[in-house]
Amino acid sequence: RTVYVNGDYLPETEAKVSIFDRGFLMADGVYEVTSVLDGKLIDFDGHAVRLQRSLDELDMKNPISKDDLLEVHRELVRLNGIDEGMIYLQITRGAPADRDFAFPDPETVPCTVVLFTQDKPGLAANPVALKGIKVISIEDIRWGRRDIKTVQLLYPSMGKMMAKAAGADDAWMVQDGFVTEGTSNNAYIVKDGKIITRPKTNDILHGITRAAVLRFAEEAQMTVEERNFTIEEAQDADEAFITSASTFVMPVVEIDGAQIGSGTPGPVAPRLREIYLEESRKVAI
Ligand code: PLP
Repeated sequence: RTVYVNGDYLPETEAKVSIFDRGFLMADGVYEVTSVLDGKLIDFDGHAVRLQRSLDELDMKNPISKDDLLEVHRELVRLNGIDEGMIYLQITRGAPADRDFAFPDPETVPCTVVLFTQDKPGLAANPVALKGIKVISIEDIRWGRRDIKTVQLLYPSMGKMMAKAAGADDAWMVQDGFVTEGTSNNAYIVKDGKIITRPKTNDILHGITRAAVLRFAEEAQMTVEERNFTIEEAQDADEAFITSASTFVMPVVEIDGAQIGSGTPGPVAPRLREIYLEESRKVAI
C-alpha cells in the first residue's frame, strides 16, 4: 500500500513519524475518514470543512490547502486502486524536540500530515445492513468537546470491547440519562414515522453522514426531530439506526438485549440507506 506522509508518497513500510510527535505522545491531533465509492470521494467538502473546524478549535495551523488535500485523496485512491473503501487522514501537532505540555511554536514545529487508504470491497453492499446490528449502552465518560474530531479514542475503543464481550456489535453512550452517540457513529430512533436524533452540541460529533441523511430525509418528506432520547425510549421505538462514513446508514435491531420493533430492519433505515448511497454516488468527486 502507498501512503502519504508530509508531502511524500511512500510504501507503508518506509513511512515514518518521530517518537516525539504529539499525536503519539499526547493524542494531540485530529482526523477524518472519508468513504470511497466507485473510486470517488463521498462528501469530501463536508470532511474538509469539519477538519478545518477541528484544527481551529485546537489552535492548530493547517499545513495543507483544501485543493492539495483533495489531490492527495485522489492520488491515493489511484495509486492503491481503491474502488470501495475509506481514506484516513490525520493531522497532529507535530514533533517538537522534546515532550512538553505547552504547545510548540507552530512556525518552527509544523503539523504532521498522514493519509492512508483502507480497501473495503463490498462496503456499499454490506450484508450486515440486511440484518442490522446489536448495541449495548454504556456510560459516556469522554471529555466535553466531542464535537472536535480528535484522535483521543481510547474510551470509544473500550466501549467497542465491552460490546464485543457482551455479544453485541457496538455501544451507545449515555450521559445524564440520554443517548449521546455510538462509539464511532451517530445514533437515531424512529417512532411513529418520526426520525429522532440528538441535536448538535459539544456533546457529540457533528457527523458528515448525519447532515446528509437528515437533509435527504427532509427532502423525502420524512419528519426529523432533533432532541435527546433515552435507552428506554429507544427500546420502545419502531426502529433504530446509526450513521457514519464507514457504515452509511446501519439498522440497529437490539439494545441491551431488548428487540427493537419486529427485530428486523425497516422500513425507514433501509430506505434511508438506499437514498443515501444513491444520492451520495451522484455527487461524489
Ligand atoms: N460520532 C463519533 C464519535 C464518530 O467517531 C463518528 C465517526 O467517526 C461519527 C459520529 C460519525 O461521523 P461521520 O458521519 O462524519 O463519519
